[in-house]
Amino acid sequence: MSEPRTVLVTGGNRGIGLAIARSFAAAGDKVAVTHRSGEAPEGLIGVRCDVTDSASVDAAFTEAEGLLGGPIEVLVANAGVTKDGLLMRMSDEDFDSVIDTNLAGAFRCARRASKGMIRLRRGRIILISSVVGLYGGPGQANYAASKAGLVGLARSITRELGGRGITANVVAPGFIETDMTAVLPEDTRKTYQAAIPAGRFATPEEVAAAVRFLASTEAAYISGAVIPVDGGLGMGH
Ligand code: NDP
Repeated sequence: MSEPRTVLVTGGNRGIGLAIARSFAAAGDKVAVTHRSGEAPEGLIGVRCDVTDSASVDAAFTEAEGLLGGPIEVLVANAGVTKDGLLMRMSDEDFDSVIDTNLAGAFRCARRASKGMIRLRRGRIILISSVVGLYGGPGQANYAASKAGLVGLARSITRELGGRGITANVVAPGFIETDMTAVLPEDTRKTYQAAIPAGRFATPEEVAAAVRFLASTEAAYISGAVIPVDGGLGMGH
């Protein structure tokens, strides 16, 4: 087994983030998750963080680094929200708040993480996007724009820091069984399911497996990539 790394997963208190955090912990890594409210999940170190606030991000990193005993080597920027609505009725607030959480939140975390990674001369930045980022989604102009933005973010980080042992990649999940998709009406679920070549939604653990690979030493030469975990839904996008 390789040396344990220090891992921070934002929004790791539930859903995909929690599965990712548990998967790193099971592999022997030192893991902290951020949670906005409530308690940290059982068995994991939690630090409070709102990714829309730079001071909160900075404080969470400082606390996590103290608890884990060193700079963050693997950042998984997973925290995300949806505020769906048709374009002509979407308010500025609904557009801005989704961009602020999903895109600017990932930027704030990557910026803070890069300081320690540059000093260490190694690091892994993994941004959780969505199939919708490149495929588009009706009623999701804000969400799709925020998730597409992560591709430009990861690729710019790759060009800036690629020579310092740091990689930045995007994982683009399709439909995953979490709270976010539990709210979908049954007929919408059926329509989506019919469009997915795999014929089913995925488990959060299937996303975690791709994230762990990108974080591994074996993935040192993969950077600026968009890795779909979508059962074939977004092929070619
Ligand atoms: P959930 O809604 O289950 O969890 C979202 C997480 O993000 C929660 O931990 C939540 O914290 C956190 N979060 C939201 N806003 C903030 C904020 N401002 N600051 C800090 N944390 C915040 O989502 P999923 O697990 O389903 O999704 C995780 C990621 O995967 C998201 O980025 C999502 O867009 C993406 N994704 C999900 C898909 C799916 O099918 N489920 C498909 C494709 C992508 P809290 O508990 O405090 O609300």
